[in-house]
Order: sequence, then C-alpha cells, then structure tokens
Amino acid sequence: MNGYGGSILRVNLTTGTITKEPTPPELTRDFIGGRGFGAYFLFKEVPKGADPLGPENKLIVSSGPLSGLMIPGAGKCDWTTKSPLTGGYASASMGGLFTAEIKYAGLDSIILEGTSPKPVYLFIDDNKIELRDAAPYWGKSTFTVEKEFKEKFGEDFQVAVIGLGGENGVAFAHINHDYGRQAGRGGVGAVMGTKKLKAIVIHGTKSVPVADLEGYRKAGMALFKACKDAEMLKDWTTYGTTIVTSWCDEVGALPTRNFSAGSFEGGKNLYGPVMRKEIVITDKGCFGCPSPCGKYSRMKRYNTNVEGPEYETIGMLGSNVGIADIQDVAQANLLCDEWGIDTISAGGVIGWAMEAYEKGIFTKKDTDGLELKFGNTQAVFALIEKIAKREGFGALLAEGVKKASQKVGKGSEKYAIHVKGMEQSAYATHNATAMLLAYMTCDVGAHHNRAWAITYDIQVGREKVVPEKVARVIWLQNFRPMFDVLGGCRLQWVELGIDRDLYVSALEAITGVHRSWEDLEKVGERIWNLNRMYWARENEGFGRSWDMPSPRFYEEPPKTGTTAGQITKLEDVNRLLDMYYEQRGWDANGLPKPETLEKLNLRTLVA
Ligand code: SF4
Repeated sequence: MNGYGGSILRVNLTTGTITKEPTPPELTRDFIGGRGFGAYFLFKEVPKGADPLGPENKLIVSSGPLSGLMIPGAGKCDWTTKSPLTGGYASASMGGLFTAEIKYAGLDSIILEGTSPKPVYLFIDDNKIELRDAAPYWGKSTFTVEKEFKEKFGEDFQVAVIGLGGENGVAFAHINHDYGRQAGRGGVGAVMGTKKLKAIVIHGTKSVPVADLEGYRKAGMALFKACKDAEMLKDWTTYGTTIVTSWCDEVGALPTRNFSAGSFEGGKNLYGPVMRKEIVITDKGCFGCPSPCGKYSRMKRYNTNVEGPEYETIGMLGSNVGIADIQDVAQANLLCDEWGIDTISAGGVIGWAMEAYEKGIFTKKDTDGLELKFGNTQAVFALIEKIAKREGFGALLAEGVKKASQKVGKGSEKYAIHVKGMEQSAYATHNATAMLLAYMTCDVGAHHNRAWAITYDIQVGREKVVPEKVARVIWLQNFRPMFDVLGGCRLQWVELGIDRDLYVSALEAITGVHRSWEDLEKVGERIWNLNRMYWARENEGFGRSWDMPSPRFYEEPPKTGTTAGQITKLEDVNRLLDMYYEQRGWDANGLPKPETLEKLNLRTLVA
C-alpha cells in the first residue's frame, strides 16, 4: 500500500506471541494513520473498564503516511493508550528518529498487549522480531539504557525507553527517545512499565512504496524550499519554542507560582535570548527537519547537558515553581528525562504541593523534611527523584494532581490545576477564553498542542465569549492534530507559515489518493468524536462537569500580569461550553448526538 509500511505488529507480552497482520485499507481511508490508528485500536480493542495499568490495556505506537519520507518534519509517531493519569484517552506525540524505523521495518503500528512476567525489551530488525531479557537494564535511567543499546546494536538502531518513573507506574511517566525526545503526556510510560517492557529497539531497511515518485520529489522539494525561504526560519531555529517565553510573560500567560499569576518577576532570566546565550551549545532536530527547534544545552554549574529546555518546561519547572535561573530549569528538565517523567505534569504537581505548603496544608512532616517554598530549586530536584521512585511524599505526587489533591483534601483541590486529571500545560488562562476552552475540551485533558488558540485570543479580544472563538478552537482541534495523524510535525505550518496545501500534494503523490483539507479535517472531526465517546464509555457520568477548568481562572484575578479581559463568572464558562457543544453537534451534556455520529460514519464503531 503506497505510503504505508503495510503491516500491523502485535506483541502479546503475557504469552510472548508475536504476529503480523496486513494494515486494513479501510483503516487508512477512515483514520489515515498515527493518532487516527491509535484512537481506532484503543476504542475497538481495549475492553470497556480496562484497568490502565492492567493486562487488558494496550499501548499502540503508530507512524503515518508521511513518516520516514523526505517531507519536512516527517519524524513523528503517536503513542495511544488508556491513561493511568486521567482514566480516559491518552495520545502522546514523539519526535526524533523512531517513526522512520517503524516504516522501514515495514510496519504502521505496533500494538503491545498483556503483561510480561519479567522485564523484557522488544527487538526489531526488519523481520527479526523478538522479546529479549531486560533484566540487565531494569532500574537504569533512560539515557544509560539508550546508550547501552546503541553501543550494543549500533547507531542505526533507534530506542524508545522508560525510566524509573515508568517502571514504578508514575501516572505521568513518559517514554524517552534520542536522548531528549519524549512521548510525554498521559502516562504512556507507566503503561509500558506495567507491561514490564523496558524498551523498544528498532531498525529497518525496507523501502516505503510511493505512488508517484516524480510528484513526491517535486512536492517534497517545494515544502523544503518553502521552509528555507520562510521569514521566521532564523528566529525559530535560533530560539525554538522558547521564542514565546517573553511574549507569554508580557501578555500575562506565563504560569507563575502554580498559575496564581501570569507574569514572573524572574521571567527575564528565562527568556529565549538569555537561554541561547547562557546555555545552548547547538541545535537538534527530528528526522527530516529543516527548522530544528531542539536546543542542546550545557549546564556548567552542574557539569551536565540536556536537550532543552523548551518553552513548556521553562513555564512549568521555572516560573510555575518560582525558579528564575535557566541552568536550574535545564537541570530539572534533565532529571525528569533521566528518571522518565513528564516535565509539564511534574511542574504542575510540584507547583500544587508548593502552594499547599504555603497555605499550611502541608508541613515539613508531610514532605519528608523538604521546605517546599516556591523557588527552592533543591526541593524541586529532590521531588523529581522521589516521584520517580514513588518514595515518601513523592508517592503521593506520583498519582498526579487530581488524585493527590482528592486524597489530601483540606481544600487543596482548589489549587489543583488540571482538566480531566491532566495537569494544565504552560499557558495561564485567566484572560484568554479561547485557550481556556481549548484546555477544557481537549481530548486528553489540559494539553496545549491540539488547539494553540492563545494568539487568537489576543487578536479577537481576550475576554470575549463569542461564537467565532469557539469555531476557531473547533477548527484547530480538527485540523492541527492531523499532523499527528499523518506522522509529521505541525510546527512548520504554525511557526514558518508553510502553505498547508503543499502537504496535500505531497500526500497525494505518496499515497496515490487525493485528499482535500476539508476531507482531512473531517477525519480529524471523526477522531475527535470517537475520543469523546471513549471518555464517555470509560467514565460513568462523563459529561459537562468533566470539561470544567480550575476555578482559579474565573474566580481569582491573577496576582501579577494583566487582569484586563478576565471572565469572572461561572456562567461565562458555561456559555462557552454551550456554544462549543452546539457547534460540535453535541447535546447539552457534551455528548455527540446520534446524527453527528451518523454524519461521521461512527455509528457502527461506537454501538
Ligand atoms: Fe522536530 Fe522541532 Fe523540527 Fe518539529 S520543528 S520536526 S518538533 S525539531
């Protein structure tokens, strides 16, 4: 099948059985690849009520039709599972070089099932596919294991590996690859860990069939040329995502001291130019990327190196926990990567613990003697390790902010900044209603990458609760995740302003099938609705109340940063949801109406 590896690999870790099946053509038609394949397999194959950390849950890693081909940023794969953090749909995108090897091994998805009785790793070298003993690697850090596998098998092999966070079932454990690229959110690493799968090591040599070689060459060249000519290329590759740090600080969107404020007095020390000057030593990109956003940094104070920190980490492990030194933030980033936990959730849960400490809900007796004041760098470092090891106070935080705050009570729930159990990523949304709605309705919880709507808020008027904003969020949610479906990166479109139609030509030349953006957005809408049905199937009483944001964003003014444009009433939050549900074709409780499911050809699948 043109543009595809051609097979789905199934690995049952309980029995050790490994099988392949052809990738169904109707699956490529209706769900295309990547995140679409993951959403389909999760809904169809994981039984209702499965324990996220039990053998019935599956972990599905998928490439897309662009993955591994000479298209800018075609280095993304998707990891889907039932989330141990939220109890709903989880899908985490991972860059680097891994997805290309999935395709070169002749695969589109790898479905990991069951639970191994002992630690193993999955070894794939074209058709040689084996589960091997991982006892020598269990208990070691992500970077150590990746290095050992590279030394053992060679640099051509790509490695996706969990750290102690994943081994210990931390609800926001990640999967690490290429010494600093992660499938970060939703606890995909914990699912891998409870399956006792330490790593996947993969290499392939097969060609990916392409329908129209000359057309593909031309479309690829046009895309690379557009990137090369883009006005923003220089700034983007100089600063990467940290280009927005100063902007967020200025507009009051930089999460500060557990989102109680939107601008940070130490923010200037964390801005992109400061980071570039003080710690960045080189740039690092994913497969086929002409605009590398990865920044490789050296922290002289600690004698260490890290890929990062990118903006989200600076927001969550910098200003959100009161740290105003870029080397300290970068070191916290490194610790999370090595131990195998998501930097965004780690910053969210530590920020919550610090605020609860400040309010007297915790004392040193609860925190293993740590003084959890905002800005205490050593306490942050210590907590990252304790979380990964589930040690003492870290065991509580390892559950994620929703469960931890419910367990503690005493009003601490009020300081838990999350939606559906996922810690909010690094945009304070006191006065950005489109971004607030994007978090409220995101299909994995409060994550930014589906609909990065904050610039639209500034454009339209921050406080406005208007149908145009809602329509914009819905369009972004249908369209942007298509890059995760195609197996490519959205950032060339977002940051360099690449004409999205260039991707349509490339996709047609590769697969031999014409798909307009309207058609692709409809697939995006299908996936969005399927995921909504998944949440509803797995969580009794699921509906509107699950979409509510932290009251912090409408009950309290931000302590710093602008207060202009904040919505202050729950009624306005509900008005946003009313408009959103109506435009989505959902009922008043936020569930897709039968006619919406019919329109999207989902009736049979969800029945
Ligand atoms: Fe990877 Fe960044 Fe390039 Fe996207 S822009 S492909 S995330 S390096």
